[in-house]
Amino acid sequence: MIIVLFGKPGSGKGTQAPRIAEALGVPTLSTGNVLRDALREGTPLGREAKAFMDRGDLVPDAVILGIVGEELRRPQYAKGVILDGVVRTVPQAEGLEKVLATAGRKVDAVVRLDVPDEEIVRRMGLRTVCGKCQTPFADRKPGETCPNCGGTLVRRADDEPEAVLNRLHVYEAQTAPVFDWYQRNGTKVAVIEATGTVNDITTRVMRALGGGK
Ligand code: AMP
Repeated sequence: MIIVLFGKPGSGKGTQAPRIAEALGVPTLSTGNVLRDALREGTPLGREAKAFMDRGDLVPDAVILGIVGEELRRPQYAKGVILDGVVRTVPQAEGLEKVLATAGRKVDAVVRLDVPDEEIVRRMGLRTVCGKCQTPFADRKPGETCPNCGGTLVRRADDEPEAVLNRLHVYEAQTAPVFDWYQRNGTKVAVIEATGTVNDITTRVMRALGGGK
């Protein structure tokens, strides 16, 4: 099952993706995580992406489609994948469709997590992420130890207010139209009210996908 997880920055994609993935028995793929790993390792990809990411701008489509094409060829994704923040422009959606079509596959569903902007700004102000495994946390401080892998929690540079506002603007301008594109395309779409407890949101997503969890 190939699911596109869609929603504004801070809408909970990174929190929900592993839960949905576990319920469906497939892995996740987050271009944000791939890019942050590349940045930390100082690879050419990381160096190319850094300035865009620091500002909260989108990394060019060709770079993203390069990552997606390479990743989705791996056997670990043969059964399916939860795509977390992977599709953020219409050309990316078109490119993904082509990559999948070469293997006789297609996106099965698009899930949009909806959260009001005030709540997003609040969440981003509190968010820390593990510098090692990239798990996001809403209730832990920078410098604390990651309960999952023992890494150290940090603040993301692009979670500071100026970059957050730019990311919300970029979402409206470039990413929101992707949802309409999928709808017109006839792809199954679901809109989830993504406030409340993490568990409740997962339950809503799984119901919408027909999984009933
Ligand atoms: P995320 O962790 O998903 O919020 O992504 C962090 C940053 O990585 C974004 O603000 C972009 O700069 C970049 N990025 C991640 N995924 C994409 C994508 N599909 N298209 C363009 N830029 C991306």
